[in-house]
Amino acid sequence: MGGSFIFMDMNDIIVDTRQIEELLEGGARASEGDIALILERGSLGKGTSLEDAAALLSIKDEEALSALLKKAGEVKDRVFGKRVVLFAPLYLSNFCTNGCVYCGFRSANRSVERKALTPEEAVIDAKALEAMGFKRVLLVTGEDPRYGVDYIASCVEAIYANTGMRIVHVNAPPMDTASLRRLKEAGAGVYQSFQETYHRPTYEKVHPHGNKKDYDFRIKVMDRAIEAGFEDVGIGPLLGLYDHRFDCLATIAHSKHLFERFGAHAHTVSIPRLRPAESGLKEVPHPVSDLELKKIVAVFRLAIPSAGVVVSTREGAALRSELLHVGATQLSAGSRTNPGGYAQGKSLEQFSTNDQRSLPEVMSSVVAEGFIPSLCTTCYRVGRTGAEFTRKTVAGEMEKFCQANALLTLKEYIEDYAENGLREELGHTIEDGLGEIKDPSIKKALEERLKEIEEGKRDIYF
Ligand code: SAM
Ligand code: SF4
Repeated sequence: MGGSFIFMDMNDIIVDTRQIEELLEGGARASEGDIALILERGSLGKGTSLEDAAALLSIKDEEALSALLKKAGEVKDRVFGKRVVLFAPLYLSNFCTNGCVYCGFRSANRSVERKALTPEEAVIDAKALEAMGFKRVLLVTGEDPRYGVDYIASCVEAIYANTGMRIVHVNAPPMDTASLRRLKEAGAGVYQSFQETYHRPTYEKVHPHGNKKDYDFRIKVMDRAIEAGFEDVGIGPLLGLYDHRFDCLATIAHSKHLFERFGAHAHTVSIPRLRPAESGLKEVPHPVSDLELKKIVAVFRLAIPSAGVVVSTREGAALRSELLHVGATQLSAGSRTNPGGYAQGKSLEQFSTNDQRSLPEVMSSVVAEGFIPSLCTTCYRVGRTGAEFTRKTVAGEMEKFCQANALLTLKEYIEDYAENGLREELGHTIEDGLGEIKDPSIKKALEERLKEIEEGKRDIYF
C-alpha cells in the first residue's frame, strides 16, 4: 500500500493514504496513559487531532473502551442535548449503470425490477411519510444518466410544492458543480454521498465499471458541492469493505479537509455497515463487530463533535438504542429501500433492513432510553448551516436550540399523529425536557410556544 495523494491542486490534499497508515501504526502504540490524556482532551467537545483519533480507533483494552464510550455519550449530550433526530429515506430510482459489487441495484443484477418514480409518484411516497409524521426526507437514487440532476431536482421541487415536508435532503451520485448548483437551487438541504472506502486499491476492486469507478471524482464532490452553494454535506465509509480503522480515520481527515478549506466540518457522518443484498457480496470482506461499531460512533463524536452521526435501519433495534448512548444523533425509521416502498409496499430492496419498526415504535424506544425524539428542521431553514453551525456547535451554543426545538416538534407530533399510549409517554418526555432547560428566558418562551401549538399553531421554532 504505497502512499497516494489525492490532489485538489498542488497544495490541497484531501486524504493522504500514507499519513493515515502511519498515524494508525503510531496510534496502535499509544499507552494507557496516552489514551487517558487523549480522552481528557476529547471530552472538551472541541474535536481531536488525527493522531488522537488514530489512537482511539486502535483501543483494544476493555476499560479504555468503556471510558471512550462514556465520554462520547457525555459530549453528545453537551453538544446536542438529549435530542435524537428521526428521518426517513425515500428511494426515487433504482436504475443504475454502475457495478458496485456490494449493491442490489448494480447494473449486472438482472433479477431486480427497475423503477424510477415520477415526480408525482415521489410526492405520493412523501405524502405517505408525511402522514406518519415525518418532516424531513432523504431522497436516494442509483446512477443513470436518464435520471440525473434534472430528474432529482424535479422530485425535490415537486415534494416541496405538494407536501408538508420541511426539508428534503439528497443522497445522489457525485456530479459536476453546475449540476450540484441546480440541485441546491431546487432547495435540497444536505448533499450526501459516501466515499464507501478511502482505500484506493479496494475502491477500484469493488467499483469495476461505470462512473463510480472514478475515485477522484467522488472524493472531490464535497468540495464541488460546497462551491455550488451546499453549506451542509454528509460523508461516510461503507463499513466492511476495508479495515474500518483506515476508513474511519480517512473520513475524519476528509472532514478536517472541508473544515480547513471552508470552515465547516461535514454536517453528518453516516456509518452504514455492509448488509446482504440481492446478487451482492456473499461475504463481508472486513466484518465490523457491534462493539467496533460502538467504538467508531464514539470516535466520530469526539473527533468531530459538530457532525451528526447517522445510524440507519441496516442496524437492529437493540444496537441502535445502544448507539444513542455513545454519540449517535440521527436515526432513520420505518425505512423502505425500494422506490415506491411507502405507498406501494416492498419489492426488491437495495439491501435488507434490520430494524423494521414503525416511527411510533422507534419514538417509544428513543424515549425509553432517556432521549427526546426530534423532527426538527430549523437550522437548514434559518441559515444555521455550514461554518456557522460548526462554530456554534463547538462553542456549546446549539444544545439549547436543539433541546427546545425537539420538544416543539414532539408537541406537534402529539397533537397531530400520536395515539393513546404514545401520547402519554411523549407528554412525560416534554415535561421532563422542559424541566431540564436551564436558561429561564428560553424556558418561558418554550412554555408559551408549546401552548401555541396546543391552540393550533404549527412550525414554530427557536
Ligand atoms: N447510488 C448513489 C451512490 O452510490 O452514491 C447513492 C445511493 S446508494 C443507494 C446509498 C448508499 O448505500 C451507498 O453509498 C452505499 O454506502 C450504501 N450501500 C450500498 N449497498 C449496500 C449494502 N449492501 N449494504 C449496506 N449499504 C449499502
Ligand atoms: Fe448504483 Fe449506488 Fe448501488 Fe453503486 S451503490 S450500484 S452507484 S445504487
